[in-house]
Amino acid sequence: MVLSHSTAPKKVSILGSTGSIGTSTVDLLLRTPNKFDVVALTGNSNVKLLAEQARLLQPEFVCVADPKNYTALKEELSGLNIEIGAGESAVIEAAQRNAEWVMASIVGAAGLAPTLEAVKRGATVGLANKESLVCAGDLMMECVTQHGATLLPVDSEHNAIFQVLDFNKPDSIEKIILTASGGPFRTFSLDDMQIVTPEQAVAHPNWSMGAKISVDSASMMNKGLELIEAYHLFPVEERNIEILVHPQSVIHSMVSYVDGSVLAQLGSPDMRTPIAYALAWPERMAAPSPKLDLAEISQLNFERPDTERFPALRLAREALQAGKSAPCVLNAANEEAVSAFLKRQIGFLDIPALVEETLSQFDHQSMSSIDDVLTVDRKARRMALHAIEKNR
Ligand code: NAD
Ligand code: MG
Repeated sequence: MVLSHSTAPKKVSILGSTGSIGTSTVDLLLRTPNKFDVVALTGNSNVKLLAEQARLLQPEFVCVADPKNYTALKEELSGLNIEIGAGESAVIEAAQRNAEWVMASIVGAAGLAPTLEAVKRGATVGLANKESLVCAGDLMMECVTQHGATLLPVDSEHNAIFQVLDFNKPDSIEKIILTASGGPFRTFSLDDMQIVTPEQAVAHPNWSMGAKISVDSASMMNKGLELIEAYHLFPVEERNIEILVHPQSVIHSMVSYVDGSVLAQLGSPDMRTPIAYALAWPERMAAPSPKLDLAEISQLNFERPDTERFPALRLAREALQAGKSAPCVLNAANEEAVSAFLKRQIGFLDIPALVEETLSQFDHQSMSSIDDVLTVDRKARRMALHAIEKNR
């Protein structure tokens, strides 16, 4: 039997098109231009790249989050039939435009409000922006159900789990095993980590990514955020989400079933594979990621994570167990700490210390609306920034 598939181009938007995930998404769109119509692209400061993407993809609407860049973007795109915007409200507008598929690839809690706008339209959202689930997971998942949206995890681990988890038989799932590369400091002692530089922290052994997530990978806060992300996306308890260090990043994650079967998704570490999966879902499309050659790799290794050297893992688990505003505070303090580390204002080990201090000093509260989340986020950032100033 020949199955007929719709041939109308899919209308897509990319929130954060100039970042690492954004440019990989653009790369895939450009390889199959007749399959996609681009509605909106958003960036923040890299106007040249955003304009180049707009010239290639001919979207309806392009905007920059930073209003200072409006004039430069307007000049770059003058004479083209493309609407231009700037500021937070323009990013929201980009998310509201009628794309059926939206890539949420803004970094940090700044991605929360725009991602929610796409969800509220009932769109299919490729979710890379894990911070939005960390700071507002319950509210976001309620919104997904309420508006009939579809959330497709793009984070490689969650994409792997999505591919091998039997959503129809939640009782048959024993646990989820989230794999972690261990980052560039996997074998470092705490003394070694005391003096590492931003350059060392962003040099990930397997993946090429934006600066913030690279530092998170180095501190293993990334795996902590992913633990919280997995908790919201999949029908498993926190205690049934295990973290396993696997330095080669070939097995992207696994699901263990009650009968002893363990299902895994494997691939070379190239984000274009999970992005292509989300873009084509429920079909599949070709991606240019290097093919996996297991004979060449020859060995896969595994280790238990070390929460003494990587306290961020413990902090994230504790925040998830504490609930209420704790995950949001963890995320906000971490964003400020990472930013200060990248500016060389604090040391690498100050990152988890600052997160722990902010979490312990915060007067935790329930959050029943996005406004509550944004209030907690701002307050936690102020506290973290204050601590950074004090320690300088
Ligand atoms: P990046 O820093 O390379 O790109 C971030 C994007 O967000 C850019 O387009 C930038 O213009 C935009 N942006 C930054 N600040 C903004 C603001 N205040 N308002 C609006 N837009 C803003 O980051 P990335 O590595 O592409 O990561 C993006 C998201 O995807 C993160 O949440 C990250 O955790 C997640 N993720 C990334 C990877 C990866 O391989 N890079 C893998 C898994 C998950
Ligand atoms: Mg990941």
